[in-house]
Amino acid sequence: MSLLTVRQLGKSFGGVHAVRDVSFELAPGELVALIGPNGAGKSTTFNMINGQMAPDRGQIELRGQSLIGLAPRAVWRLGVGRTFQTASVFGSMTVLENVQMVMLSHDRRFGQLLTRACHYRRQEALAVLAKVGLESLADRGCQSLAYADLKRVELAMAIANEPRLLLMDEPTAGMAPAERQMLMALTRDLARAQNIGVLFTEHSMDVVFGYADRIVVMAAGELIAQGSPHQVEQDRAVAQAYFGRSAVSGGLAISAEGP
Ligand code: ADP
Ligand code: MG
Repeated sequence: MSLLTVRQLGKSFGGVHAVRDVSFELAPGELVALIGPNGAGKSTTFNMINGQMAPDRGQIELRGQSLIGLAPRAVWRLGVGRTFQTASVFGSMTVLENVQMVMLSHDRRFGQLLTRACHYRRQEALAVLAKVGLESLADRGCQSLAYADLKRVELAMAIANEPRLLLMDEPTAGMAPAERQMLMALTRDLARAQNIGVLFTEHSMDVVFGYADRIVVMAAGELIAQGSPHQVEQDRAVAQAYFGRSAVSGGLAISAEGP
């Protein structure tokens, strides 16, 4: 059964069709890359799936349940987690406390937010940190962390809610190549182990072709191709729209660093 089903999704801003008639599916445990030049409509698509933005038309279903009209919080509670383009952790708190905050929020224990956060589900929060290899940094203040470690904290916060679907808009932006590979390998391992579907955008073609099971390509609001990395690599429309070439000359996967 499909985890996420997007059908004929559309959104305009004034006269601009930011997203137009976009349809795709995503299965549990699958990593799908949503790629396309700047302005293609990737972030708008993400924002409609996570409830930040209402589509003008179309359907979005998570395991058969419509997400249309739900507030971001309600979408999150149904199991749609997300990470952000820039690391968005609380610098004044420790690594562990950031994960505990998510758990408190998820369990609706707002009264305990300020007073008891440090005790709340401590073992489970540590277990989440272990999944991303951050156990040893649990008690470190986040403001003292390296950027790559912050991104792992963010991933831990996203999986603390036990999502079924994880949305990652440019998760590796600002990271060095080796760190990108590490974050995506970690994401893939978590997705496989916990059967989480992952939809991510990414400019680095190394990352896209190295980690995506399937690729969905958008350009100027429209879906122009989707398929396996191999199929997309061979696609003429993709070469033209995305890379401004008239024909695929091979080596698309390794040569391009994105727009
Ligand atoms: P991408 O993430 O692929 O770079 P976006 O989804 O951010 O693309 O943008 C798609 C198009 O929609 C662009 O033309 C952009 O200028 C426009 N757009 C996005 N968000 C808004 C908004 N809030 N108001 C007006 N136009 C927007
Ligand atoms: Mg974007």
